[in-house]
Amino acid sequence: MIYAAAMSKPLKTGGEVDSFCTKCKLVLNHRIIAMVASTPVRVECSTCGSHHNYRPRAPGERAPAAGTRASGSSSSSSAGPRSTRASMTKAAQAAADREKQWEKAIAGKAVSEFRAYRVDQMFAEGDLIRHKKFGDGVVTRILDPKKVEILFKDEPRTLAQGLTD
Ligand SMILES: [Zn+2]
Repeated sequence: MIYAAAMSKPLKTGGEVDSFCTKCKLVLNHRIIAMVASTPVRVECSTCGSHHNYRPRAPGERAPAAGTRASGSSSSSSAGPRSTRASMTKAAQAAADREKQWEKAIAGKAVSEFRAYRVDQMFAEGDLIRHKKFGDGVVTRILDPKKVEILFKDEPRTLAQGLTD
């Protein structure tokens, strides 16, 4: 087995995946530029726009424990193939819930309440964001001092914050 297709979304060229960015030096949301079989090989960073090879995790970071064959996506809850049907339904339900959450956060807000997303900014949970590529979003989680999870209309993405160079 190479990478088990246990993730909720099949990976495809033009799709999105979490990868280590060699420029941001963080595991962040990337767009897949090229794939070999079911494995991404080239990706574009959604934060800085740089193109580089796909790396599922930061250098030096350990691979997931044996038995976890998911390719390192932090958002994957790695349901096994036998629960595919149940997890599809759950995934659809989660997507619907997320969209509701997004709508609730965005609804009725003035344009002036949104901040333009920039990698050198620091964010807080609940901040309203305007991203030039992904549109309106709301900060749902501060993952660490350098990373935030922002919920956009289509899906949540891990983006950088507080980058100084
Ligand atoms: Zn980057």
